[in-house]
Amino acid sequence: MAVFSNPSFDSHEQVVFGADRSSGLRAIIAVHDTRLGAAVGGCRMYPYASEAEAIDDVLRLSRGMTYKSALAGLPLGGGKSVIIGDPTQHKSEALWQAMAKFIDSLGGRYVAAEDSGTSVADLRAMSQYTDHVSGFAATEHGGDPSPSTALGVFVGIRAALAHRLGASDFHGVRVAIQGLGHVGFSLAQMLKNAGAEVLASDINATNLARAVAELGVTPIASENILCEDVDVLAPCALGGALNADSIAVLRAGIVAGAANNQLRETADGGRLVDRGILYCPDFLINAGGIIDVHYQRSGLDRAGLTAHIESIGDRLAEVLQRADRCHRPTGEIAEELAEELLGATVPSGEQQLRSVA
Ligand code: NAD
Repeated sequence: MAVFSNPSFDSHEQVVFGADRSSGLRAIIAVHDTRLGAAVGGCRMYPYASEAEAIDDVLRLSRGMTYKSALAGLPLGGGKSVIIGDPTQHKSEALWQAMAKFIDSLGGRYVAAEDSGTSVADLRAMSQYTDHVSGFAATEHGGDPSPSTALGVFVGIRAALAHRLGASDFHGVRVAIQGLGHVGFSLAQMLKNAGAEVLASDINATNLARAVAELGVTPIASENILCEDVDVLAPCALGGALNADSIAVLRAGIVAGAANNQLRETADGGRLVDRGILYCPDFLINAGGIIDVHYQRSGLDRAGLTAHIESIGDRLAEVLQRADRCHRPTGEIAEELAEELLGATVPSGEQQLRSVA
């Protein structure tokens, strides 16, 4: 349950624990970095097996948000919140009221949006009690940022195919998608429309059957999806899909998906390089959702949203070229680039203070 000595602790500015007796709320908010702006990031609800698991998750995810927003050129910092509980059983009006008040107590340093286990309706419920929630505006998708996330991943896959294979379109390209939820289904739709062959798995039989019936994807057993003979593997389920065991059996030349924290540990980046597999950093290509949330929150013209998401392709190309030049993991290069962008915004005196803090 340690925080400061947790391997995922990265000089987070603030980590706050919240509980409410009557609703049963037990939650953690992690504000990683606010140099670029308020810490914006999803509110995840998950039946964590232990408090240690929840702390680790919120620390890793909030750090990823800092890098994601910096690379996406957004004036936002990085933060995340987790609610320890089963989203299929433990949601209630009282829980959202308590969580909203917890978020409100940070006075806007942290702003919540959707994440695994929370929906547009949940964010809207919280908005009755705090201004510091987002992701429920009356957009073409009712505030759901997932289609924008899928678009960013699609753009990332296109840039990776151009970089690796010199391909200018999706014809003849085979993509395997792990997870057909909010993002995975939209991504499958975009890939099919672009002419790709899509293979997919989901542990939820209903989600898989829907994608087969509506999009014509080829169903694959969950235990086989990671080792299909495809050009691109797109992990769009939960984190940790890439580890020593799975990397050893991958047959895709490119990995590019939406799931946060796809690498189980830092060394997995090196394992992918050793196998000659091009990994598109998750926190770079899954930024479409946070870009969408920023447009919703700032009331920006939605006409600019698609162009902003398309810029993910240029940023990825920059990272892939740098990584090629020094033969290093793309995730490390993307983090360095994010640090450059973050450092460039801090007055030198303040930066010195942070480095000795
Ligand atoms: P979701 O919960 O709607 O969908 C996840 C899907 O994966 C579900 O259908 C689930 O049944 C399936 N799944 C779970 N474990 C699986 C397994 N082992 N094999 C195959 N399928 C499995 O989530 P989502 O909103 O689509 O997000 C997907 C991932 O992308 C998550 O990791 C999320 O954190 C990340 N992400 C989402 C967004 C967004 O805008 N929704 C933004 C950034 C990152």
